[in-house]
Amino acid sequence: MIMTFLMRGKPARSCFWLLATCYYIFVVELCIFTVQLLEAKVTFLVIFHLLFLLCVWCYLRTVMTPPAVPPEKFRPSESDKQLYLSDERPQVLQEILIRTAKDLPIYTKDPKGDVRYCATCQVLKPDRCHHCPVCNVCILKLDHHCVFLNNCVGFSNYKFFLLCLTYAMLLCIFTSAVSLHFSILFWTHQLPNSPSKVPIIVLFCLTTIFSIILFLFSLGHFELALTNGTSREDNDETAEENNPYNLGFRKNLREVFGNEKKYWFLPIFSSLGDGFSFPMGEATEDKEKNAAIAKPPSESPSQFKL
Ligand SMILES: [Zn+2]
Ligand SMILES: [Zn+2]
Repeated sequence: MIMTFLMRGKPARSCFWLLATCYYIFVVELCIFTVQLLEAKVTFLVIFHLLFLLCVWCYLRTVMTPPAVPPEKFRPSESDKQLYLSDERPQVLQEILIRTAKDLPIYTKDPKGDVRYCATCQVLKPDRCHHCPVCNVCILKLDHHCVFLNNCVGFSNYKFFLLCLTYAMLLCIFTSAVSLHFSILFWTHQLPNSPSKVPIIVLFCLTTIFSIILFLFSLGHFELALTNGTSREDNDETAEENNPYNLGFRKNLREVFGNEKKYWFLPIFSSLGDGFSFPMGEATEDKEKNAAIAKPPSESPSQFKL
């Protein structure tokens, strides 16, 4: 079942084979065939597999955690839904939505100042919730739809995604450093030529490229986590400048990683909140004012990043 999940989608499949190749070169060609010292062999294999297992665990949690969708209370009643479908006058439609949203924690309006409603999911959109055209569902605190994960990254799996990026980056940096060391030994003839030489140099090149890419992605995403932003909101300059959810970097990180330190580095859900209501910064206490600030960017499907 896991394999079926992994093999869905071409980018994910290409990544899988590339990673399998790197795994083989590091474990077999480098550690088993090339490293002579037993202590070095064991140290390399232990560190590599520790990071590898953490990375795979975070990856599977990110991929297999279903995106969080708005709860039932955001769904208009059957009678309101029928009314909404039967009447086409914009004012009447808005009145129905305003009535439904009355007791809900919804402060974000669309650019016209109307309550946001998804006609496909037939649900009122909570703050920071957006419809993903690929998954065809409204997702709480949507960050982006990831083609490599074949899943949406949002409230339910954002922590797992950040950890996956971090462990993947550390794994690549570690592999790159070890393979660089042995590439230099081959290059300077301190190690005799062997069939492992070329694969190890290839491994160094691949993991260095991955390290740089993952470093840049991690930097971008941790910058967002530190300011309590999302990739989606980051594309909207107005929302970025006046981000009402920014609580200061410590609290922002706790929103994603939770209060219990023992869970910070493990892909166990510990994010704070419910995904549909969010504390706002002290500087912007007036939620109505925030509502005007926190306009969502247009619902264009152009947010498909990593
Ligand atoms: Zn929707
Ligand atoms: Zn999606």
